Amino acid sequence: MNLLRIAVALVLSTAGLAQEPPPASPPAIGAEVARLLANVDAERIDTTVRKLVGFGTRHVLSRTDSDTEGTGAARRWLRAEFDAIAAASGGRLTVALQEAVVPCTRPGMPRELAIVNVIATLRGSSDPDRVYVVGGHYDSRNGDGADGKELAPGAVDDASGTAVALEACRVLAARAFPATIVFVAYDAEEQGLLGSAAHAKALVDSGVRVDGMIGCDIVGNTLGMDGRRHDRHVRCFSYAPSGNDSLGRSMARAVAFAARTYVPEFGVKLIWRGDRYGRGGDHRSFFEQGVPAVRLSEPREDFSRQHQNVVERDGAPYGDLPAWFDRAYTARVTQVVVATLAELASAPPPPRVVNAQLRRDRYDTELVYELPEGIACEFVWRETTDADWTHTIDMAAAAPRATASGRWLATLSSVCLDDVVVGVRAVGADGSRSRVATPPEPDRFDQRARAPRGTETTGR
Ligand SMILES: [Zn+2]
Repeated sequence: MNLLRIAVALVLSTAGLAQEPPPASPPAIGAEVARLLANVDAERIDTTVRKLVGFGTRHVLSRTDSDTEGTGAARRWLRAEFDAIAAASGGRLTVALQEAVVPCTRPGMPRELAIVNVIATLRGSSDPDRVYVVGGHYDSRNGDGADGKELAPGAVDDASGTAVALEACRVLAARAFPATIVFVAYDAEEQGLLGSAAHAKALVDSGVRVDGMIGCDIVGNTLGMDGRRHDRHVRCFSYAPSGNDSLGRSMARAVAFAARTYVPEFGVKLIWRGDRYGRGGDHRSFFEQGVPAVRLSEPREDFSRQHQNVVERDGAPYGDLPAWFDRAYTARVTQVVVATLAELASAPPPPRVVNAQLRRDRYDTELVYELPEGIACEFVWRETTDADWTHTIDMAAAAPRATASGRWLATLSSVCLDDVVVGVRAVGADGSRSRVATPPEPDRFDQRARAPRGTETTGR
């Protein structure tokens, strides 16, 4: 051991800190996740994309009376695929259609649209009211957003994301998880996120706790318009009302954690922005319901494919056709999704952080949180300017003690709260990690402190 390494080891041991994962030897959950990831099948993903493209158009106004063309045929096929998985799931998976008539404000479109989401639910074995969602939209469009007749193949936007949800369902339904996982093919994303808005509202209104949503939209093309291949990572967008520690950002970090741990040869690029300029996606519907939600999209979109008619102009092909779909890439994205959902649905629920304060005599951080008796946790921190967690403190080092009010008080030695962001996540017996929960930023405390007595009702 050279001098530098000795010095580093000394610093780490005195502070009780270690560098953030990936862990040297993944815990028990790691072997299980590896088995699941090995079952992700690029061939099946490719079959799904080609089958969906084969219906010609999946526009919300396209025909519903055919078994070979239009959106009706597409969703019947999707339902049959989910039904086949359910039949082999030993009763764990159930499939349903969510049908609704919803207002539409898009130019050239009817004021009301009948929409149909295809929803498969893998019910949790011990904590079924905690729910994770993954979805892609099966509807498509061409250059005219109101055209329900002409071809709108939508291979990448978004048969690819729909294929991720379906393949993740096939892989994950093979076993039981403590929490519930919901797999959705959304309708009418192209008409203003209508399908996902109806689903997010119905889920939240039903009283379940939706602890995370992954929207997969445009996750299948790797050839950029710059002629270069971009197939080594996926972009992960998340909204935040302010700062970098929204629920969405904590979900984004959970996705990045799962990718680093289980799919290390493939990256998740965290982008601290809700979506691309001028664009939206189904994760927004969940963000608006207060749910931790992210969007996954390929690194370099080919804008001569999306929302284009299938034509040739100046010798160049246009249209979202399967010729530019990269099945191996979409399989990688599916692995990231499967790893994230397996980890979160296996882990205990995230702790609830009640308060954080600086112990001013020693520059330690004290964290007060709620976590059921007998569930382990670990603490993380990072500089405010770092995108993701850089340091982990295990529970033994923080020595949490029960408070009189039934909460826990942990002390993070030599972690100066005023300069960094701290958080805590639950750790299951198999080593699975929950999302990280963080205390509110200090400006929130200031707002509360300034409010006159008796008027603290907004809870912003
Ligand atoms: Zn899309």
